[in-house]
Parts: sequence; structure tokens; C-alpha cells
Amino acid sequence: MFLFSNDLGVDLGTSNVLIYADGKGLVVREPSVVAMDKNTGKILQVGAAARNMLGRTPGNVVAMHPLKDGTVSDHEMTVRMLQEMFKTATKASFFTPKPRVVISVPSGVSEVEERSVINAAIEAGARRVFLIEEPLAAGLGAGLDIRGPSGHLVVDIGGGTSEVAGISLGGIVTSRSVRMAGDEFDNAIVNYIRRKYNLLIGERTAENIKLEIGSAFPSEQESSMEIKGRNLLHGLPENITITSAEVRDALAEPLSRVIEAIKITLEKTPPELSADIIDQGITLAGGGALLRGLDKLINRETGMPVYVAEYPLDCVAEGTGRILENLEKYRDLLTEEVRYY
Ligand code: ADP
Ligand code: MG
Repeated sequence: MFLFSNDLGVDLGTSNVLIYADGKGLVVREPSVVAMDKNTGKILQVGAAARNMLGRTPGNVVAMHPLKDGTVSDHEMTVRMLQEMFKTATKASFFTPKPRVVISVPSGVSEVEERSVINAAIEAGARRVFLIEEPLAAGLGAGLDIRGPSGHLVVDIGGGTSEVAGISLGGIVTSRSVRMAGDEFDNAIVNYIRRKYNLLIGERTAENIKLEIGSAFPSEQESSMEIKGRNLLHGLPENITITSAEVRDALAEPLSRVIEAIKITLEKTPPELSADIIDQGITLAGGGALLRGLDKLINRETGMPVYVAEYPLDCVAEGTGRILENLEKYRDLLTEEVRYY
């Protein structure tokens, strides 16, 4: 009966929370958004349902992202969100013990930030919390032998930040985090369309444009899409057609910032590790890795081979799952461990 524990691996992302349940795999995959009734303090929705309320809530409702750049920005809301998600993940019956939880945190967060992630998880019902640096989890989830002698470069492009990390022998040798990722790509599309067409679109529309026709590198299948917005000159709704080449123009500047971060990290990488990266290539993870042609652009700009992880959105959570299922084996990778009893 008790073949598996109810332990959980958690990717606490700025855009999405994914939870891996021991023996079951990924059981939660939800936007990290909470909607609350301001008057009663009651949580109305968590995840996708709450996300649909962003930007269109009535006066008494607030929908928000409780995490910023992979760390807790609103403690109470993070706890409430995790509570709901842990419940879904463990399908808590009367007798199930509280879960042990492996959570990823961006590399280079402060001790205070680590502490706030631990506290939020414990308040949300974790019995014990283990933290793993996100690039290590991403590398593991992408199937890299992160403990082997050969070094790797992992680039995780999420919603709030892009993390670049050189990994060798189970540790992070060099890393860099920039606040330039999916959300800023969306913003760049909003700004481009406002400047060029005097048309104001929402962030969700911008994200849809990015997903539908966005690209980082020209391809044979160029496409276009009709979008709706509000004309800033006469204030009325208006439709325009935008092409993938225009979206690429809009994304050029923010993408160059991500590439700059990769180049700087490569420059600071010890020569032995650089030599490995030339062989092993750069591994892309995170939702941003799904942008069409990003691998080609990074390859052209760095000269390194570039591989997109098979399931870039799932890598970190899969990595925490791998750790969860071999806790003893990976113990030395966990940066912090807390017993609360
Ligand atoms: P986080 O770890 O910060 O929660 P994720 O790794 O879940 O972030 O990635 C979320 C980001 O990935 C969002 O900005 C989203 O727009 C972007 N994204 C998801 N799918 C695609 C895609 N197919 N093309 C481009 N960007 C994508
Ligand atoms: Mg992430």
C-alpha cells in the first residue's frame, strides 16, 4: 500500500508552479497566481483560474503573482497558494503524513530569501524542506550528468529572470542572473506595437503573439496574426495584422540582453570548463527556451552548440523529482535542510 511517500518536488517559479509527487510524476502545473477577496481575505482562485482574472478583476478582488524573480514577494499569498497546491498534489487523506519537500531556488539568492521560501513551505504544510539551486535541478531534469567530471552550461529562461550557470561536479562554478526573460519579452512587444501603430495591447495579448508567431531567428515559415487593441489616438478598439518579422524586431533588444549574460558567463568560466562547454554545448531550459529559433540565435552569437531540453517547462520540477526519489544520493547538492521538529 505505501509504496511511495507523499513527498513533493516543487518548482516555485515566478510564472508557473510545478509539483512532482513521489512515484507519480508531475501532478500540479499551474500559473503562480492567487486571487483573493479583499474584503473577506478569502482566497477565491489559485492557478489558471486566478490568472484569467489578472487585469480584469472587480473592485473587491485582487489577483496577483506572489513570487518575484523566484523568491517570495508576498508571504501570506505564497503560503495560501502553496497550501492549495500541496493539497492537490498529496490528495491529503486523514492519515497521510505531512510531506517532505524539495524546492528549487535561483542560485545566488540571499539567506533571508532562502529562509522565506522555507518558512512559506512549512506554513503551507511541509514537514521538512530541502533547497536545491535551480540550475542544478534544471540540468538534472534535462538529463545532464551534472555530477560528472564534464562541465555544462545551463540557461534557464523563465518569466522574471534568465539564469545562466556553469555546472561541474555537482556544483555551480559560475552563474549570472538577469531580470530579462519572458515577461520583458512580452513588454517589448507591447511597446513596439504602441510605438509603431499607436495601438495599446494588454500583456496577455502580447504573450499570445509571442507564443503564436514569436521567433528569435528568421525561418522559412514566416507568419502573421491579427490582433486587437485600443487605438491611442481616437481611443477606439482596432484590429491590425502583425508579422513574425515585426515580433522578431521587437524581441531583438531583450534577447540581446540574455545573450550578453551568456557571453559574460562564458568569459568568466575557467578554461577547463569552457573546453567542456564547447564539447557538451549549452542547454536551454525554462519556458523561454521554447521561443522559435532561440537556439539558432544563441549558436550564432556564441559559436557554441545549443540544445533545447526536451521539456523545457518541466526540467526544474523533474529535477526536484529526481532528487526526491534519491534523497540520500543527492544529499550533498541540497544547500539547506531544516528540521522543524
Ligand atoms: P518561471 O520559471 O519563471 O515560472 P517558466 O519556465 O514557467 O517561468 O516560463 C514562463 C515563461 O515562458 C513565460 O514568460 C511564457 O510566456 C514563456 N513561454 C512559454 N511557452 C513559450 C513558447 N512556446 N515560446 C516562447 N515563450 C514561451
Ligand atoms: Mg523557472
